[in-house]
Amino acid sequence: MKIIKQLFCKHNNIEFIRNIYGDKINQTSTSHIYRSAWRCKYCGKILYNGYLNNYYVNPKYWDS
Ligand SMILES: [Zn+2]
Repeated sequence: MKIIKQLFCKHNNIEFIRNIYGDKINQTSTSHIYRSAWRCKYCGKILYNGYLNNYYVNPKYWDS
């Protein structure tokens, strides 16, 4: 059920987890530069984006 929930979730209700620095950037993904991690409060999915929290405004693109 959790997968189904994530599939249809728009991830509109997210909370900040941490910024990603240094080696952790490469450990998180080899193909993207992710600078911060977020969690959807509704479905629990972890989301990343390329901006540090300081610069977080309203990301259009979420990568899973
Ligand atoms: Zn969600």
